[in-house]
Amino acid sequence: MFKNEPLTDFSIESNRTAFKDALDKLSDTIQSGKLSASPLINGSAVEGETTYESIDPASPHTVIGKVSFANKATAERALQSLKANAAKWADTPFDSRSKIIRNVAAVLRAKRHQISALMVREAGKTWAEADADTCEAIDFCEYYASQMLQMGPPRKLGDVKGEENTYFYEPRGVCVVIAPWNFPCAIATGMVSAALVTGNVVAFKPSEQTSLVGKAVVDAFLEAGCPPYALSYLPGWGEEIGAYMVESPLVDMICFTGSKDVGLEIIRKASEVKPGQRNVKKVVAEMGGKNAAIVDEDADLDEAIKGVLLSAFGFAGQKCSACSRVICVGDIYEPFLKRLISATEDIIVGRPSDPSTFLGPVIDKESYDRLMDSIRTAEAELELAFKGKTPAEEGYYIPATIFRDVERDHWVWKKELFGPVVACRSAQSFSEAIDLALDSEYALTGGVYSRSPANIEKAIKEFKVGNLYINRKQTGALVYRQPFGGARMSGIGSKAGGPDYLIQFVEPRTVTENTIRKGFVPS
Ligand code: NAD
Repeated sequence: MFKNEPLTDFSIESNRTAFKDALDKLSDTIQSGKLSASPLINGSAVEGETTYESIDPASPHTVIGKVSFANKATAERALQSLKANAAKWADTPFDSRSKIIRNVAAVLRAKRHQISALMVREAGKTWAEADADTCEAIDFCEYYASQMLQMGPPRKLGDVKGEENTYFYEPRGVCVVIAPWNFPCAIATGMVSAALVTGNVVAFKPSEQTSLVGKAVVDAFLEAGCPPYALSYLPGWGEEIGAYMVESPLVDMICFTGSKDVGLEIIRKASEVKPGQRNVKKVVAEMGGKNAAIVDEDADLDEAIKGVLLSAFGFAGQKCSACSRVICVGDIYEPFLKRLISATEDIIVGRPSDPSTFLGPVIDKESYDRLMDSIRTAEAELELAFKGKTPAEEGYYIPATIFRDVERDHWVWKKELFGPVVACRSAQSFSEAIDLALDSEYALTGGVYSRSPANIEKAIKEFKVGNLYINRKQTGALVYRQPFGGARMSGIGSKAGGPDYLIQFVEPRTVTENTIRKGFVPS
């Protein structure tokens, strides 16, 4: 039976010490300038053309490590090599592939603090967020490895004398995995492990900003026994090598998680057939969200405040599942806002390497400038309910910000901002609240805080989002327990960490044999 990896309990001193040691060791490595990464093709490091400096979002002058970025020629070499080796990996028995992926879980478990520490420094994750990211990666490996054991054996179908029908799954071939920076270990590991365990060879392109975490992920796969010919590491610019690989006729499948705009571009480009292309490319694209929480008139405010606070400001609102809109039904609006503001005033903002920090920096200067600009513009157009403080020290810190009385056609209500910014408003009824919540091109997560069984039932039926959470936070989906993924413009995948995920990475085949032999051929 699958069990989720337990999170590290940081209230235990020995756990805190172990994590602090991992951070200290990493600091020493960073200071020595030893952290670096280069593209890997068939196990060999290849020097790219440009060098990317990965920085610490809490200390932008600190270069964590240097990453040699692959160019199109390197990406082409990787795809050629993967294509040449695809059959070898596809022919590896499914239980052997499953065993390797389970070994990846063991390697990640053994290195969990080391990898989480790297996320603290490269992605600006707090201790708890980084630890949860690593645990989710372990879960993906364990879960998909066990799913493959169920999916692997060919099935006999039908019961007709003289006819044998066999139904089985085959890998698609070369899979390009394109990952975001916000869950640099979990999402990358989830997509790579799913593609590999089902027998596909993988060209993995991590997000630019978290290329070093991406390298740590690849190292874990190789250390666990994944043959180097089956997995290439291709750090580089999305618009350059990402786009190049999406269009390559050598590619059979693209597994992407990221923004809506890039996802739609990938879907469009992948549908254009290139000379020499043999397959219609399969695209799995998990995209953005503009997720609402409904606070009903009779909601338990203790739960609602806690849930909205964690969902809106956890990892500085940089989760696709984050709550960025709140709709309060009737008279609960003012008391809710008052308490949300007072709770937000108390959150600890600071360096993610400090264990007490709740709100850290956003990922990079581009995000920082975009968010500061959005908040400034919105302040001139909307009523600001709250704007938090940020540390005086350097770092891409964005104040936790709450706007009130936001109209449904305002851009702050509609656009995914991907930062610690929440738009609040009231609704006259629960029905109107659902209507407002659904008035979005996205449909990823939703939250409902209510004590009314009738309204909870109504929400289950009508609040059609990929993941609906009732009387709890709407972030932190766990593998197997809350298979994750959205509808509408939030994605065209089939829930990561769920029972239907792996099926996307395979082609089913049916073989029918007439077994009534008219004589036989002597050998
Ligand atoms: P992004 O779309 O900017 O980048 C994602 C990846 O795509 C990166 O590796 C990038 O290099 C690559 N890329 C960029 N342009 C490309 C192109 N033209 N062709 C091919 N690849 C290209 O997203 P991001 O900023 O890394 O991540 C944040 C976004 O991801 C948010 O919108 C968030 O909601 C979404 N997200 C969704 C989920 C989900 O499960 N639905 C999970 C995490 C993040």
